[in-house]
Amino acid sequence: MKSDVVIIGAGMAGLATGALLSKQGRRVIVLEKGNVAGGRAYCYEDRGYTLNYGAHGMYIPESGPLGELMGRLGRPVSKNGYPQATRSYWVHDGRFASLGAKPHQVLTTGLFSIGGRMAVAKVMLAVRGENPARLPPELTWGEWIDSKTNDRSVREFMLAFGTLNSYTNPSGDLSAAFFLSHLQRTLFAKDLVGYMHGGWRTMYEQWIEDIEAGGGAVMTGERVETLEVADGRIAASRTTSARYEADTFVCTLPPQEAPTIAPDSSALQDEMMQWSTPEDVRAYCLDLGLSRPLRTDDATFVFDVQRNLYYSIHSESAPDLAPAGALLLHAMAYLTPEQARDQTLRERRGDELRAGLNQHFPAWKEAAVVTRTMPDAKVLGARRTPENIRNLVPLRATSVDNLYFAGDSRDVPYSLTLACLVSAMQVADAIAVTTTAASVAAVG
Ligand SMILES: Cc1cc2nc3c(=O)[nH]c(=O)nc-3n(C[C@H](O)[C@H](O)[C@H](O)COP(=O)(O)OP(=O)(O)OC[C@H]3O[C@@H](n4cnc5c(N)ncnc54)[C@H](O)[C@@H]3O)c2cc1C
Repeated sequence: MKSDVVIIGAGMAGLATGALLSKQGRRVIVLEKGNVAGGRAYCYEDRGYTLNYGAHGMYIPESGPLGELMGRLGRPVSKNGYPQATRSYWVHDGRFASLGAKPHQVLTTGLFSIGGRMAVAKVMLAVRGENPARLPPELTWGEWIDSKTNDRSVREFMLAFGTLNSYTNPSGDLSAAFFLSHLQRTLFAKDLVGYMHGGWRTMYEQWIEDIEAGGGAVMTGERVETLEVADGRIAASRTTSARYEADTFVCTLPPQEAPTIAPDSSALQDEMMQWSTPEDVRAYCLDLGLSRPLRTDDATFVFDVQRNLYYSIHSESAPDLAPAGALLLHAMAYLTPEQARDQTLRERRGDELRAGLNQHFPAWKEAAVVTRTMPDAKVLGARRTPENIRNLVPLRATSVDNLYFAGDSRDVPYSLTLACLVSAMQVADAIAVTTTAASVAAVG
């Protein structure tokens, strides 16, 4: 079978790249090993609750990369609901309080002592005023915080805030330059994080429509086993059942898996192995469809600073994610690399997560209509430590001519799904330029 472009993987990166290339007039085939499209953002319904496999909060959906991408496709951004910062509560040193959203609320919150409030306000101002490009590449987020405050409780809070915004535990290991630019782009935006009405499929189903409208297809149950290389180019990708030829190929597999589809002992495999070493980012997750509200106050979000535990009622922002009067709650224990590797430690994190549920959402077990446990979810392909940042997946392979990469481990200054969307736009732009140059050369 021959098409213009073959994309390997039908996650956010593969589908977004496919839609953009289809819009350029190319016939795109997306090969997906699973039975459904969506990858780690796959979205489905269970007894009236809409669950995303993993991803749930879209950062800066309107003012950021999603808005730009949907604009390029001539489509509006799917409707999002936004959480209210005043209903976000933090547990720290035995205190339970909201931080608020406005500067004066930071100065009156019950979460810190009077000195702590001033120190938090000072660090938040430093986040806003920092120039990440001027920071030493080896500087970590933990070291950056230390340079701004010596208040223990503020330091702990900022590290937890780092974990919340990056999923990385401990967040102190993150590259300061990378993480501060992520925070500056998102934290002060009006549309900081949105919860999509109808779940993320409302977004990626439009991309599938665009691929199909361009004469292409998303083929599920098609695991790519190997790429065929000939004359310095990828000639085809082989699945168990078929051979797919194309002019151009795009790989969106996480870096730890990508080398498995390169021919054994090839230059391409060596190249892909270079990016496969960074540790990934994992979490222990519990999704609960609850039949009724469990708290009497207004809290829709609880974060335990010292334990790095997250509880968020997504249906408060996007009510159609749960039946009327019911709630969809997402709970998460962020895993350190050591916990991710060790099943006993992971289970201990699961116990901590459930203990937090008992404390903050008592009677959750009786109210649970849907319970989904993911003890080892892969959130991101690569931790953004200073060392790993030098080794992220590039736009294009150097050992073959026609292979591009997109996904959340690409070398772009964005994180999570934003990295998928930005890298999808880069790949689409690069393919457009290469093809135009080839046509000009052919005419000349
Ligand atoms: C628990 C959790 C919570 C998250 N929360 C958020 C959040 O709130 N906000 C946010 O922005 N992001 C979040 N993320 C991250 C987000 O889900 C990912 O960054 C994004 O979905 C990754 O998309 P991708 O296309 O790069 O990779 P993937 O989704 O992994 O897509 C790769 C695809 O390739 C397929 N594949 C693999 N091998 C082959 C093969 N050999 N042949 C064919 N197909 C193959 C896989 O089945 C998969 O579908 C979360 C992730 C998790 C797990």
